[in-house]
Amino acid sequence: MNITIFNEGRDEKRKPEVLKVYPNTIGGALKEIVEEMEDATLLTIGSLYDEECGLTEEILEQTDVLIYWSHGGNREFPDAIAARIHEHVLRGMGFIVLHSAIGCKAFKSLMGTSCTFRYQHDVTEKVICCNKTHPIAEGIEDRFELPMEESYGEYMDIPKPDDVIFLGWFDNGEACRSGCTFTRGYGKIFMFQPGHETTPTFYHPQIKQIIKNACRWANPARKAEKAFNCIPL
Ligand code: ZN
Repeated sequence: MNITIFNEGRDEKRKPEVLKVYPNTIGGALKEIVEEMEDATLLTIGSLYDEECGLTEEILEQTDVLIYWSHGGNREFPDAIAARIHEHVLRGMGFIVLHSAIGCKAFKSLMGTSCTFRYQHDVTEKVICCNKTHPIAEGIEDRFELPMEESYGEYMDIPKPDDVIFLGWFDNGEACRSGCTFTRGYGKIFMFQPGHETTPTFYHPQIKQIIKNACRWANPARKAEKAFNCIPL
């Protein structure tokens, strides 16, 4: 399975506290997760500051699963690259959408909704598994705690998911559908709420396991060769 990571890279430049938690950047923490998977090869880590954001046609053509973290640069992201991601998901590329990447252009266009939600920083989260038999939940505890996270609250403006795997419950009284799956074209999509830039979420063993499970689940059994509406019989 070939995996590509996109880490926007903007918060690392603007907020020194991000590098205190993630000295090798958020992309570096995600890279460690991928490198722990014996069945995965990391192709590249792209950022907003790379040519074509590191997500060239050649790279996406070889990518089975794209792990995507972004935040304040969602609006700056080039439309053409977002459209390219969209097209590759329709053709079968798995798409793992982490935390504030819920607001990225490619996810929004694939969902067809605003993908907005209520949020508040520095709260404790309990992640509750509500779909024990789903492959993304394999080896995951019924409940585990993230001592510091950002709450996302309902209503989250996403379409009705194929499956809700995790619920997030927060000590400020908020709750949300924290881990959801969608299918678009041939592509499988996993949206996952935890992963705020100043909390050490991507080091948490359960979070790492969920991301690995999600990559394996989203790894396409087959890809469409060209545009989704041009599949030869
Ligand atoms: Zn955040």
